[in-house]
Amino acid sequence: MNINGLNFCVIGGGIGGVAAALALRQRGAKVTILEQAIELTEVGAGLQISENGMVVLRALNVVGEPPEAGLKSVGSMLRDFRAGRSVSDIPAPVAGPTYYYHRADLLGLLHKAAIRDSVEFRLGARVARVYKHPTDAEIVLTDGTRLRVDCAIGADGGRSEIRSGLNGPEAPEFTHQVAWRATIPWERRDQNPCAVLTMGPGRHVVTYPLRNHTLMNIVAIEERSDWQEEGWNRRGDPEDLQARFADFGGLVGEILRKVQEPYVWALFLRPVAECWQNGRVALLGDAAHPTLPFMAQGACLALEDAWMLARAFDEQSSIEKALAAYESHRRPRAQQVVAAAGANARNFHLRGPMRLAAQTALMAIGPRLARRYDWIYDYDVTA
Ligand SMILES: Cc1cc2nc3c(=O)[nH]c(=O)nc-3n(C[C@H](O)[C@H](O)[C@H](O)COP(=O)(O)OP(=O)(O)OC[C@H]3O[C@@H](n4cnc5c(N)ncnc54)[C@H](O)[C@@H]3O)c2cc1C
Repeated sequence: MNINGLNFCVIGGGIGGVAAALALRQRGAKVTILEQAIELTEVGAGLQISENGMVVLRALNVVGEPPEAGLKSVGSMLRDFRAGRSVSDIPAPVAGPTYYYHRADLLGLLHKAAIRDSVEFRLGARVARVYKHPTDAEIVLTDGTRLRVDCAIGADGGRSEIRSGLNGPEAPEFTHQVAWRATIPWERRDQNPCAVLTMGPGRHVVTYPLRNHTLMNIVAIEERSDWQEEGWNRRGDPEDLQARFADFGGLVGEILRKVQEPYVWALFLRPVAECWQNGRVALLGDAAHPTLPFMAQGACLALEDAWMLARAFDEQSSIEKALAAYESHRRPRAQQVVAAAGANARNFHLRGPMRLAAQTALMAIGPRLARRYDWIYDYDVTA
């Protein structure tokens, strides 16, 4: 169907929401993004965007070739925690290299493209509820404003209100994983930038350079039972981080000792949503399928969703049919990727003899390990 001139509202101005707004706008729809934040900012942390996400950024003309602001990775390295001993080197996926982005830079590129394409932004607009009517959707903001649109997209993240409207209330579950994140200034220019994943019992650390090697991004995950609070922006105590990872040696140990301003938060999760759409309102990104970060795929999945959502309108004859087609295309893929990330939570944190056995196996299969995830990276939603 032709969506030229139809009114869409995207709720949430994160990576998934802005990408969806762009994909719909580029097909002629009038698109407004409703974002609760009063300014467009992002936390200072890194993101790995693999080829399955990069194809969408290129197709939306968000990045060119070579892609702006990203650092091209040559692959990843697996290390053991004690002295940073090498377990395995994994080459870049056959599909194409992964790029390391500062979140603020990636969101900045998306916002620039959205402004170029005349997507409208309404900041400080927090959505309370969305209702389906026979021929449109009604959006109610917390300040009481009501808007009628042809279609509403809930890209409002892992604690989505729009998801609750479609699925009823669901309490998020604490995954018993706590994540620390930080960036530190970095001056070593590595000719071969790669992500280093250092595995220890009950913990792992991922490091990779950002912004032309001037920053090192650090995500340190530990299994813990003592946490009840959800949310991103809690300041952590660097000494606490360093004590919890004190037995991590080698370069990662050095990097952790340099951290001065860590953030810490518990990873809460809801399952992949039962209901993604009702014919006028649809979910996208973390709102539909929050994932543990252990495949670095949450943002990539949100980009894939954005493209597939807009493409469904090309192929279907009504909004209802397009949203149903979008859901049925995306659900199996999201479920598979979310499950792969969940399995890595176990694989990265093995203890005792299990850890040694797994490391011996990893040394033997080394580069072939990368091929195991080809189905994630060589998926081209734009093809
Ligand atoms: C430690 C960590 C590392 C990660 N690393 C990677 C990685 O390397 N690669 C990768 O692909 N993914 C990674 N991810 C996942 C990725 O960050 C998320 O999957 C992605 O940001 C989801 O995008 P989104 O647009 O769906 O949601 P969000 O980015 O959460 O955006 C939601 C937006 O909606 C707004 N909003 C919320 N509620 C409302 C409301 N009621 N009204 C209006 N606005 C609202 C919010 O303010 C926000 O701007 C990582 C995640 C974590 C936790």
